[in-house]
Amino acid sequence: MAPTVREVEVFVVGAGQAGLAAGFYLRRAGLDFVIADAQDGPGGAWRHAWPSLRLFSPAQYSSLPGRMMPPTGDGAFPTAEHTVAYMADYERRYELPIVRPVRVRAVRRGDEALVVETGEGDWRARVVISATGTWWRPYVPHYPGMGEFQGRQLHTAHYTGPAPFAGRRVVIVGGGNSAAQILAEVSTVADTTWVTRRPPRLLPDEIDGKALFDLATRRQHALDSGATAPGIADLGDIVAVPPVRAARSRGVLKAEPMFARLTSTGVAWEDGTELRCDTVLWCTGFRPSMAHLAPLKLRGPDGLIATEGTRAAAEPRLHLLGYGDWTGAASATLIGASRTAKQAITEIARELRPG
Ligand code: FAD
Repeated sequence: MAPTVREVEVFVVGAGQAGLAAGFYLRRAGLDFVIADAQDGPGGAWRHAWPSLRLFSPAQYSSLPGRMMPPTGDGAFPTAEHTVAYMADYERRYELPIVRPVRVRAVRRGDEALVVETGEGDWRARVVISATGTWWRPYVPHYPGMGEFQGRQLHTAHYTGPAPFAGRRVVIVGGGNSAAQILAEVSTVADTTWVTRRPPRLLPDEIDGKALFDLATRRQHALDSGATAPGIADLGDIVAVPPVRAARSRGVLKAEPMFARLTSTGVAWEDGTELRCDTVLWCTGFRPSMAHLAPLKLRGPDGLIATEGTRAAAEPRLHLLGYGDWTGAASATLIGASRTAKQAITEIARELRPG
């Protein structure tokens, strides 16, 4: 007997913050939808963040649509654990139809629908929203000698806190928020060297996640009306959260230029200078997790899918949510997920339920 293929109007892949924001607006639009998530519990990537990670915005500016994130007990910026608890409560409160653990293996073109292949059988959907995030594809650039280095190399995605580095010599690579926050705490227990491709740029102290979102919004409005506007990147890259400010006061936020290669015992620069170290910690970012979309053959030479708003330019039944500015300004933040989800679902509802 052929396995049953289930039908749904909208299939959402991923129940992280982007998938939940989509669920909120899909529910409000009265559409028939399901959200599949590969993990066995709520919270998306926040389930895996290191315990000491603090968001760069206060709770009230880290909220998904409809329900404010409750303040933290100590008034500090929320932890990842606080964020996971909020997301768990959010999906219960809105009774979002989440199936988990269900991994989407592939999305293919069918006759009139997209076919979603999962470990738990197939679905036919008129629209697919892919909201699978980036945490699942850590990016490490290639440098000569990586295979020779006898010490430990790890990526942000596998960092669990400073304790394992106590008394060690650690090289931290990367000029973004993860590198700065990890450096801030590892430098309290280890001998650290920070290396970046260009001099690191701290945002002014008063700029937190909320201010960044406001800037992104103003920029988007300016661009929409045909004006030019400075990007956030023109201001800086690193939010000066309290641990980063403390590290600045201790004088450890000084970066060296990027090394040219690894050696068996450490790293070496173009001019021949060498530095011995036990660990190289790659805080070098993530790439969109889109392997399930491979059968649609939509990726361009830059590895991304061309979009018009959130819609894939060459496949109008596919929307991409939450991957970064290329899928909506600030869409990869808690506060920004809502706006792009709302725009996408407004468009989808207009098409599926015209009039
Ligand atoms: P995710 O949270 O990754 O959720 C995607 C979900 O999809 C996961 O649950 C996964 O299991 C599931 N999935 C993936 N593939 C499949 C598949 N094939 N089938 C089924 N399910 C699948 N943002 C802020 O607003 N404030 C901050 O302070 C902040 N700090 C950050 C610090 C770090 C170190 C990082 C890395 C990011 C930070 N961000 C912050 C950015 C952002 O909020 C996160 O990247 C966010 O987790 C992205 O949410 P998402 O829903 O797009 O993806």
